[in-house]
Amino acid sequence: MPLPPPPLPPCPLCGRPLVAGASVNEHHLVPRTYGGRDTVTLHRICHSKIHSVLTEQELRDHYHTIESLRAQPELASFIRWVARKPPEFTDGHHGGPAKRRKKR
Ligand SMILES: [Zn+2]
Ligand SMILES: [Zn+2]
Repeated sequence: MPLPPPPLPPCPLCGRPLVAGASVNEHHLVPRTYGGRDTVTLHRICHSKIHSVLTEQELRDHYHTIESLRAQPELASFIRWVARKPPEFTDGHHGGPAKRRKKR
């Protein structure tokens, strides 16, 4: 009898559960542009927020750990906001401009 897939660990950014599927994304702690290899699994919405607040250069220089991301003031207030949303919540802007949808 097939075993259910192992549950994902909670999102390291917001701490809510991750539900495997379209609401989950991978983030390179150091952008791939700068040779980063380590990734973390987090919510798509948490991931988009990181890249809307910080440039790749800022990520490389100052925000290449989850602790520093969580301490960033705009992300900290986002985390408080998103904590009340369901785990599979995405911002619903799927039809919007595609410029931030590039996977990094
Ligand atoms: Zn999250
Ligand atoms: Zn990323």
